[in-house]
Amino acid sequence: MSVNVKSYHEYDKEKKSSYGEVVRGWQQEKERMLENTLSNRIQRWSYTNGMFKYFNNPGKAITDNNPYINIIDVEEFDLSIKNHPFPPDPPAFNNKNRPNFFGTLMDEYVDDAEWYKSNLSSSYERILKEARGEDLPQVNHEKLLDLNVLKNEIIQYAKSLGFVSVGVTKIDRRFVSVEIDDDLIFDTVILLGYEMPHDVVHRYPEPKHDTAAYYGYAHCAAYVHDVADFIRSKGYDCRARSWEGFIKYSVHAVNAGLGNFSTYGIVHTKEAGTRLKYTSVIIDAELPLDMPEDFNIEEFCARCRMCQKSCPSGAIPKEESRYRGTIKRTTDHIKCFDMMAIKHECVQCIRVCPISMLGYDTAMASLPRYYQYNRDRKSYEFDYLGGAYED
Ligand code: SF4
Ligand code: SF4
Repeated sequence: MSVNVKSYHEYDKEKKSSYGEVVRGWQQEKERMLENTLSNRIQRWSYTNGMFKYFNNPGKAITDNNPYINIIDVEEFDLSIKNHPFPPDPPAFNNKNRPNFFGTLMDEYVDDAEWYKSNLSSSYERILKEARGEDLPQVNHEKLLDLNVLKNEIIQYAKSLGFVSVGVTKIDRRFVSVEIDDDLIFDTVILLGYEMPHDVVHRYPEPKHDTAAYYGYAHCAAYVHDVADFIRSKGYDCRARSWEGFIKYSVHAVNAGLGNFSTYGIVHTKEAGTRLKYTSVIIDAELPLDMPEDFNIEEFCARCRMCQKSCPSGAIPKEESRYRGTIKRTTDHIKCFDMMAIKHECVQCIRVCPISMLGYDTAMASLPRYYQYNRDRKSYEFDYLGGAYED
């Protein structure tokens, strides 16, 4: 019987170099790759043209110097990202034949499902068109020159539309899904977080009348172009970006000082904990950047872990582990998406979360004072040195 064995590796019959030479060759290659990343450049493998592309990556400096991201080995991280760029979609969803769980969920549970669905699709279509340079809206010829004022006006306008958490940072292209880089023609990004309603999350696992995650996505979709048009009216070019996560929003939100990582890897903000969905606008203006900040959240999460203990799919790990050069908790997105699809979006991790449901201030106030040292450093130091403080 003949067996059709596929050969993956063809080894040369003649020995052309010694093992030592092969090792030295790899070390030189590694040096070359690291030299590229020691500047602010990044190389990414392109699946469409089968070649490396180079991009400037000003966000790298922010991430690498951000103590709240826990990068412990920058070299390992950079090399890993070069070799394994993020996939555009979790595998469970990157499949044309998958059942349309979320469309059906919206039809049955959202009072105005049509508004959600038409917003999501028309907004995404516009994002793709503008990314390709088609039908671009006019940019006002008169520029608002004071960038501090511009930033403030954008924040106030975005907040008036319902984006509760807003911040500015540089894109770190290591945290962008593969093949999306070309669309990111500007480096400065405005993060926009839209709140999922408290009462809807509270009703899970029977959402009734609405859904939490798709409420967030649909409102991001509805208003992100308004923010972009507002920016254009102030004389600056920009592009609205999708809420679908091609830019990995968590790390950018931490860089923009919106919050700190939660136990399950997405970002807790003071405004709404993890009850947020993000979208963004990239802008052709050197807006003043926001700085990362310690909100004492990791300290709180370390003593809570309610999300991990109650996750029905076991997607949230008990311990941190080494992942792409960082020490972090990495939620198993395949387990999570499976549960999201069959259990009305699940969101159990949000429903049990004290910061997301009771509010940041209430949750923090429940911590003993000595665990709040990095939140209220001045009072703590005063107390620690023997002084008195008043609550
Ligand atoms: S449930 Fe507890 S551990 Fe999990 S994210 Fe919320 S505060 Fe942190
Ligand atoms: S949505 Fe559900 S399955 Fe996914 S991490 Fe949260 S609790 Fe776990």
